[in-house]
Amino acid sequence: MMKVRILGFSGGFPTAMRPTSGYLLTYGDRNVLIDCGSGVLSELSKVMSPEKIDAIILTHWHQDHISDLGVFGYLLQMMKSDGFEIKKIPIYCPSEPHNIRARFETDPHFIFQTYDADSVLDWEGSRFSFYKTIHPIECYAVRVDYLNARFVYTSDTAYDPMLAEFVRDSNLLIVDAGALESRRKDKMIHTTPTEWREIYLKSGSKRVVLSHLIPYYDLSDTVAEASALGIWHFELPKIGVEYSVYGGQET
Ligand SMILES: [Zn+2]
Repeated sequence: MMKVRILGFSGGFPTAMRPTSGYLLTYGDRNVLIDCGSGVLSELSKVMSPEKIDAIILTHWHQDHISDLGVFGYLLQMMKSDGFEIKKIPIYCPSEPHNIRARFETDPHFIFQTYDADSVLDWEGSRFSFYKTIHPIECYAVRVDYLNARFVYTSDTAYDPMLAEFVRDSNLLIVDAGALESRRKDKMIHTTPTEWREIYLKSGSKRVVLSHLIPYYDLSDTVAEASALGIWHFELPKIGVEYSVYGGQET
């Protein structure tokens, strides 16, 4: 069984008690942090010592997915200089934009390794695979398979019907629903609940969480749009909620 805890789901910038993107994935004795947005380190500290994270996966280099990485480095540096035994934490990340990655790569407390859509990471019985999303910079959805259970986090993406295949049969699917039909623009970099319903139904996934919610959009607008589409099993994220993800059913 995997556990996925929501540490942050705000899109773009944090608000009070609402960090930007961050998810703690736990299985076996592994703790993997997926994205490290603003406020995520604080939320993570409620459940574990951050230096015990085994690996970090960054889906892309937008600030709302990486901005706590700098202070995470300070945490490791300060503890090390105070005599704590600190191991380097591997970070898996997209290679572009190179100028942003280069700024962080000077931090000696992390080991950076790039991945792309062809990469597969096998760790202790789990398999991580990646799908390049439609977004202004290089960005990936992350799929984790472990003991017949599948978790997918789409990270940021414009509407992409091809995602239905990548997320197929997910037991837990966390998506970027940072757009609304009522605020549709010519060019969108996020996806609406209406578009997610179509992808979700095609994919055969079990549970879907509409995440990456924009702070100044009314939550009730997201709920109203999603609810108007008929019955489907969508949920809204909550900070600190932990999902148990296992094959067949979830709690
Ligand atoms: Zn983004």
